[in-house]
Amino acid sequence: MIPFNKPYVGDIEVEYAIEAIRSGHLRGDGAFTKRATKLLSDETGCQHVLLTHSCTAALEMAALLLDLREGDEVIMPSFTFVSSANAFVLRGCVPVFVDIRPDTLNIDEQKIADAITSRTKAIVVVHYAGVSCDMSKIMKIANEHDLSVVEDAAQALGSFYKGTALGTIGHLGCLSFHDTKNIISGEGGALLINDKRYLQRAEIIREKGTNRSQFFRGHVDKYTWCDVGSSYLPSDVVAALLCAQLEKLKEITAKRRNLWQLYFAGISASVASVGLPVVPEDCLHNAHMFYLMMESSKARAEFMEQMRLRQVQTAFHYVSLHSSPAGRRYGRVSGAMDVTERASDCLVRLPMWPGLETRSDELLHAIRNSLIGGVVS
Ligand SMILES: *Cc1c(COP(=O)(O)O)cnc(C)c1O
Repeated sequence: MIPFNKPYVGDIEVEYAIEAIRSGHLRGDGAFTKRATKLLSDETGCQHVLLTHSCTAALEMAALLLDLREGDEVIMPSFTFVSSANAFVLRGCVPVFVDIRPDTLNIDEQKIADAITSRTKAIVVVHYAGVSCDMSKIMKIANEHDLSVVEDAAQALGSFYKGTALGTIGHLGCLSFHDTKNIISGEGGALLINDKRYLQRAEIIREKGTNRSQFFRGHVDKYTWCDVGSSYLPSDVVAALLCAQLEKLKEITAKRRNLWQLYFAGISASVASVGLPVVPEDCLHNAHMFYLMMESSKARAEFMEQMRLRQVQTAFHYVSLHSSPAGRRYGRVSGAMDVTERASDCLVRLPMWPGLETRSDELLHAIRNSLIGGVVS
């Protein structure tokens, strides 16, 4: 069976993890955290990177930093992972769901203005599949209405918009290193602080609400409880894994792009009836995902079954947030959600992992035959 996902880890990850353990400094903010932070800064161009234990944690930090309160509204897509909304619901905010664009499946920037009310405080954008939202238009709308922008760039490390790394365009950006993402540390994430106003408070929130970071830099003579906060930092063992992965970022991205390109060329040449991913000109993407848009949920189920019979695992997502029990309880929709519903029903993801590019002929053969409903030999 060709699995849907396969973590690309080797000896260096193991070596670094052992080194972190042997160093005796297993807690957070050790030497490997420093190294990983520097590598992320160099890759993204963001001067203020804080490692977290997940992207969910980074999103929660963002909601705390924006000082969001009960009843504040946050505009976001419904076609996303639960954490994009949960972080804000935890602060008592109301997620206001807006439909996505039919081409990139990112939030439809044309529909944001209609969702803005006097209670709107922020826009959360999600760069689906590592392909950028229309950040020029979104930042313009945000500036006009004095709204903050949080980029859920969980899928987007290694992706760029007009040459700028995703996660560094909004006020705050959130990355994930969950083992389904391109660069992994099992669980892991980072907060990118693009607006210096948030820097000092971010360090405090991440360290249980204390000024421990300032204490270690010698800026204060004792550390104390200063603010709300939680424990958002990863162990240095996790940071060691992340270092090893970040050193291979170029290699990993190149391998994924190679497979993405092979899928795209191979499928568009032979099958006209399925929708393929669209990457706008301004976007350089990290090939986080390759998906097909089928004609119906029935066609999707049949395709997935055909692929399974050919020993290839496929997957789909998301149950749209606006239709889920918690989404209905805590959020509201703005406008029609037709594109979101179609993507929920009809999108199917193909296996995507480094190393799989060498088996593209076999994969394309299975895909073509599954699409035309050929008999499995
Ligand atoms: C994976 C993902 C997250 C959550 O990341 P964790 O690191 O697992 O917390 C959030 N948002 C999106 C869009 C994701 O794909």
